[in-house]
Amino acid sequence: MAEKTLFQKIMDRDEQGDILYEDDLCVALRDINPQAPTHVLIVPRKPIPTLDDLTEQDEPLVGHLFLVAQKVAAAEGLTDGYRTVFNNGRAGQQTVWHIHLHLIGGRRMSWPPG
Ligand code: 5GP
Repeated sequence: MAEKTLFQKIMDRDEQGDILYEDDLCVALRDINPQAPTHVLIVPRKPIPTLDDLTEQDEPLVGHLFLVAQKVAAAEGLTDGYRTVFNNGRAGQQTVWHIHLHLIGGRRMSWPPG
């Protein structure tokens, strides 16, 4: 069996993580190195390494991640907007090879991102 990703270990409670929300498809946990007052990662239970590994079968799953981001944003009081980001691949600054949607908020964002 393939070795578990960091996020699978957190989901399985093999490693500590601050989990805010979970359902059959995904888990939302606080980022260990927050870039804003709210920084949550929404991670599918399915360990898809990068966006390039998505298939048509995963289409509803990706939509679900955004609806969970919407719920978590409301629960966190992000009434004035927030940012959602998938970093993808090395040039996209992805560091954990299990796709995750960053939900970042609680401060005014700048553009373009670095
Ligand atoms: P990426 O760079 O792949 O887009 O995002 C990975 C994120 O995972 C980073 O924002 C990083 O701070 C976060 N991270 C790395 N290790 C841990 C950990 O052990 N626990 C949690 N909760 N987040 C982590």
